[in-house]
This record gives sequence, C-alpha cells and structure tokens, in this order.
Amino acid sequence: MQYEGIVYRPPSEAGSFILQVTIGCAHNACTFCTMYKDRSFRIRSMEEIRGDIAEVHSVYGDRIRRIFLADGDALVLPSERLIEILHLLRRTFPSAERITSYGAPGDVLRKTDAELAAIREAGLEMVYMGLESGDPEILENVKKGVTPEEVIEAGVRLKKAGIRTSVTLISGLGGRKKIASHAEKSADAISRMKPDYVGFLTLMVEPGAPIAKEIRSGAVELLNPEETVDEMELFLKRVDSEGTVFRANHASNYIMLKGTLNGDIPRMIHELDVVRARSGFRKEEWRAL
Ligand code: SF4
Repeated sequence: MQYEGIVYRPPSEAGSFILQVTIGCAHNACTFCTMYKDRSFRIRSMEEIRGDIAEVHSVYGDRIRRIFLADGDALVLPSERLIEILHLLRRTFPSAERITSYGAPGDVLRKTDAELAAIREAGLEMVYMGLESGDPEILENVKKGVTPEEVIEAGVRLKKAGIRTSVTLISGLGGRKKIASHAEKSADAISRMKPDYVGFLTLMVEPGAPIAKEIRSGAVELLNPEETVDEMELFLKRVDSEGTVFRANHASNYIMLKGTLNGDIPRMIHELDVVRARSGFRKEEWRAL
C-alpha cells in the first residue's frame, strides 16, 4: 500500500491502521500548520479506498484493532460516503475496537444531528479536533477559518451524537502579548465543551509555515519555557471540565504533564512549580512536532 505524502496521525494512533480517505486538508490555510501544504486536497475514490482495505486485510486478516481515517479532515466527506467506508471497515475488520479521525469544526457543523448520529452508529467512535485557542482574535489571526464559538458548538454536537472528542490547544499561539487571554479563553472554551480529552502542543515554527513571517517581524513573539508554564498554570487555575483527561506530553512541549480534570489540577500546578523552580524544561533540541 502506497501512502500519498507524509501521513500525520495523533500520537495515540501509533499502532492504528491509517486509511487515507482524503488527501490533504480542505481548509489548508492555518498559518501555524505545514502538514498538507505540499499537496492539493482531494477525496479519494471508493476504488482506491477499497483497494487499501483489501490489501491490509490480506496481510493482517482480522488482527487490526484500531483504525484512523486520514488525512486532515475525514468529516469533509459526504455523510453517505463516510458511512459506506465505516460499514466496509466494520465488515472487513469485525474485531476492530475503534475507528477515529481528525475532524474540522466547520465540517462537523455542516452535518445535521441525524447525520452525526448515523456516523456514530456506523462506527466512528472519536474525533480529534483542533480548538487551538479559545481567543477569537488569535483564531482569526492564524486563519483557522472558524470562531471559538463554532468549535465549541461542533464539540457539543459531536458529544450529543455519542462521538467522543479529543481537543487540541497550542501553547504560545497568541505570543507573549496574549498569554493571559489565550490561557483564560481556552479554559472557558474547554469548560463549555467538556471533551473526553484535551491536549496541549507548544507552538513550533517550521520554515514553510506562514506564521514564521509574523515571528520574524516581531508581531508574534515566541514564549520561552517559563512563559509556557505560566500560560498553562493560568489555564489550569481556570478550567472546569470534570473527568476530562488532560495531556501535555507532546514532543513539542517544554514540560510533560498529565492528569484528569478537575481532581488532578492541584497536583499538576504543583508539578509546574517544581519544574519552574528546577528549570527542568525539555531541552530545545529535544523538541519536535
Ligand atoms: S485545519 Fe488542521 S490540517 Fe488543516 S490547515 Fe488547519 S491545522 Fe492544518
């Protein structure tokens, strides 16, 4: 099976069968993201998808446990097509425990509640969605293409359909000037969405990312490790999302932190204090996207 371009997937999908149902991302405009800038967006044909599924089945039989639908936003597919693919996967790999995908908030909002429920029924168990920031100015600046209100609504509607949600935030996305607003508004958005998982990455700028220009011009100033810890502390002091699993263990982060909201918040804040006191940050050269 030949993948088209580099295939991206969340860290928790490391052992999954990655099935490209689209190539690239239909939006492809976020200024911090270079993932799919090298390819034009298209929806793959059923023939291509059937071919990949048959090939993987011929090698692994029914030993596939997890399946991730790539690339950037599988929910851009018309609902009937997505449901057809989910049915095919369930028939081919009856022992698969879960099927997940990335989902752009705008694509979720374009589907009716009945469509989302049918997609869940067909087998899509969880969607990874980027909120990135709860601050509307930051989202506008990075050309996310949606407002925080729309991301919140998409998250709430997925949950209502029974689809679990894993939401990503990007530490430092608003630069130095926006530390407090980014942290607090992101905490407020998560408190309203109450996702199953929330994860922090830290802004890292690849040379081809459009945001690199703003950083060079000084319009957005990258945070130092201490400031990213300050930002995370502000977030943790404000968020209220009982039962949400919190992870800040991405390779781009200066610190590793995990726990369950709200009960583990005091312990995680204490861990931030310890890291700060010992300057125990991950070295710059060890960080990666
Ligand atoms: S929607 Fe996601 S994949 Fe697409 S450009 Fe934005 S961050 Fe990248």
